[in-house]
Amino acid sequence: MNVSVPKETAAGERRVALVPEVAGRLVQDGLEVTVESGAGEGAHHPDAAYEEAGARSGDGFSGDVVVKVAPPSADEIGRLAEGSVLVGFLQPLTASETIRALADRGVTSFAMEAIPRITRAQSMDALSSQATVSGYRAALIAAQELPRFFPMLTTAAGTVRPAKVLVLGAGVAGLQAIATARRLGAVVQAFDVRSAVKEQIESLGARFLELDMGLEDAEAAGGYARALTDEEQQRQRELLAEEIGKMDAVISTAAVPGRRAPLLVTEQAVKNMSPGSVIVDLAAETGGNCELTEPGETVVKEDVIIAGPLNLAASMPDHASSLYARNVQSLLGLMVADGELSLDFEDEVIAGACITRDGQIVHEGAKQAAGVTA
Ligand code: NAD
Repeated sequence: MNVSVPKETAAGERRVALVPEVAGRLVQDGLEVTVESGAGEGAHHPDAAYEEAGARSGDGFSGDVVVKVAPPSADEIGRLAEGSVLVGFLQPLTASETIRALADRGVTSFAMEAIPRITRAQSMDALSSQATVSGYRAALIAAQELPRFFPMLTTAAGTVRPAKVLVLGAGVAGLQAIATARRLGAVVQAFDVRSAVKEQIESLGARFLELDMGLEDAEAAGGYARALTDEEQQRQRELLAEEIGKMDAVISTAAVPGRRAPLLVTEQAVKNMSPGSVIVDLAAETGGNCELTEPGETVVKEDVIIAGPLNLAASMPDHASSLYARNVQSLLGLMVADGELSLDFEDEVIAGACITRDGQIVHEGAKQAAGVTA
């Protein structure tokens, strides 16, 4: 069986689906690995490193299984052979045109974001591995942009109080942002609508921000948050606006799968912040948690610095690719038996992650998003 790795073409995408170390392990397991020339460049892995690991240089779309990071462009879909298998982030709930094109092309596709988040599949969880990178980087951006120290300092020139940081949304990215901001010495509070995370927040040395929202818990299927009602959201925004005014930095990571990011930080909340404060809005990709965020830009509004970085994981491509490659390796482990491709659609992970097959969209969420009726 041949696994191939194309060079990513999406703007700003510097990650690669397999790093040389993992390519080498697949070769040792008896697979052939073909890597497009320059595929690892953005992540600082030269072609020679892949060759040393036993991979061949060649067409990145030629494999029985093609492994990618970003969703394929229309051109790239055209390069996939009918009947081939594609593995990558495919945005099945939002990129309906891509999903339809994959089905039409007869590609069996698997979305990394659709892998069920069950214990057995933890090693394949690329949403988590990449969110870890984003959360870490978000805290660094906040520290970098803030015209103040994060840690408390006692110096001959006086004492500096530590920065107050609020993290909104304490999923994987939020928890990593909390941990990183804490390591830099900030005093951190965090808020999430899932009450289950309170303990996790506290175990990182942060305080759970209690908002009197009259909300029991908003955990839904799969451990994700449910979307709040309009009234709940309005109440949350009002309560948050006051708390945000006391912060030096806000790192927002709140998301609900397949939907626009919830709006948590209003213009009024930004006005309440002291001049020079910072907001890093990790939800910029899905519309932003802050009303004033401009996705992909860092802007200054009301003398508050508002960063809306996109695809933050790609800004740390070496480790982001290493973690992603291990997620892919682990998934491939489920797809291969005795060196041959063997897809067991009875397996919950294989079935759950499969988006298109036999010319059809087979994933429920992707079907709904594409308007396919039974
Ligand atoms: P996500 O990126 O979908 O959302 C980020 C966070 O935003 C979540 O914690 C969510 O509760 C929160 N949020 C949503 N609406 C909000 C609002 N209005 N206000 C404040 N916060 C809001 O989440 P994620 O990081 O992908 O993780 C989702 C869940 O999956 C978590 O429970 C996590 O522990 C779980 N998970 C399980 C596994 C596993 O078992 N294999 C692995 C990773 C994550």
